[in-house]
Amino acid sequence: MTSPDVTRPDQTDSDAVQTQARQPVLPPDQRVGYAVVGLGELTEEQLYPAFSLSGQSRLCALVTGNREKAREQAELLGLKPQDVYDYDHFEELKDRADVQAVFIVLPNSLHREYTERAARIGKHVLCEKPLSVSVADAEAMVAACEATGVLLMTAYRIQYAPHHQAARELIQGGTLGRIKLMTAVDVQTEPNEGQWRLKRDLAGGGSLLDVGLYCLNTTRYLSGEEPCEVFAYTHSTPGDPRFSEVEESVSFTLRFPSGLISSNSCSYGTSKHRSLRVLGEKGNLSLDPAFDYTNLRLMVDTETEVRETLIKETDQFALELDHFSGCILNGETPFTPGEEGLQDQRVMEAIYQSAREGRPVQLERLGGRDLFRGRKPARIERERA
Ligand code: NAD
Repeated sequence: MTSPDVTRPDQTDSDAVQTQARQPVLPPDQRVGYAVVGLGELTEEQLYPAFSLSGQSRLCALVTGNREKAREQAELLGLKPQDVYDYDHFEELKDRADVQAVFIVLPNSLHREYTERAARIGKHVLCEKPLSVSVADAEAMVAACEATGVLLMTAYRIQYAPHHQAARELIQGGTLGRIKLMTAVDVQTEPNEGQWRLKRDLAGGGSLLDVGLYCLNTTRYLSGEEPCEVFAYTHSTPGDPRFSEVEESVSFTLRFPSGLISSNSCSYGTSKHRSLRVLGEKGNLSLDPAFDYTNLRLMVDTETEVRETLIKETDQFALELDHFSGCILNGETPFTPGEEGLQDQRVMEAIYQSAREGRPVQLERLGGRDLFRGRKPARIERERA
């Protein structure tokens, strides 16, 4: 066999691709209006910029526990003081005809309460991951939205990311042959003892619900399959006060009906690393980094070639926002509806059960692909550079 031809990005002009989501840019008054609930780090650093990049969504109101801080932010965002609501006055959004949806960006255990409150006032719900802290909560959220006829979407930005869409197309188009194994890692250091992420009543769990979820959800997304069995270990460093309520690390294996096996690791106790590899009969691909907001890299390694696929980055949060807005405008089920988040919750409960009981745990064996997903995201155009 000839040795693989390694192609560096600056040599791949003919294969370089630019990626662009083709969604119409609407005039501001025709865009879907949102109230953002919870003005923490994600909202300030990622979502405000994403609204300014979006073509179908606009920010109309802020819901906060700190009115003063929110008023300062509102002014910078071009909103008025009356666009700021505190949590107790959330229901007043009912009278805001310009607000059709809420984006819930609160600690995990509050997702259910605000989803139910939003559904009761007839607002569509985009909810941050994890959808909730239990299967029971996730089921209640799906039911509440169904009962009042509003849409519920789990904010899985990775499923709208161009690099991940390209990886899925390569897998499903047969470039790697039949896929046999996957590995995914999402680890980081959680240094702050006071963080809500380390409190069980607010976070619902540790590294699994926060970062391990990316390994689980991306494996399901790329393969399109549902796991039928899980086996897991958890570990927390004895005496480390950060992990007195939630777990530090989880290693979990997923088995799928096709025979695909995926090995995953997540942790709050190691330095940052986020990568994914898919191994098939005819080749493999890797995303490294795989789960960051920017600078993702997709490498494809077949018997004849090792190549980086160059993809123009598009803001992941703007893509997910505009996908949801498109679904609201057209009355369609989002690609990552509440049911998609609920399914991850079922698998995560099985992972914890397996670690507790020291044995594999079976899940309902489900055939078919993309069982919990709705309308595909806007077509991604790949143009040769
Ligand atoms: P954060 O701590 O920075 O912000 C949380 C916000 O909730 C703050 O404004 C805080 O004041 C408010 N809050 C309301 N009630 C609270 C309470 N009882 N305790 C603590 N805070 C309370 O957190 P964040 O990083 O913005 O995360 C918020 C949500 O977004 C989480 O569900 C998280 O998993 C999710 N998230 C998703 C991504 C992603 O890439 N999709 C990234 C980061 C966070």
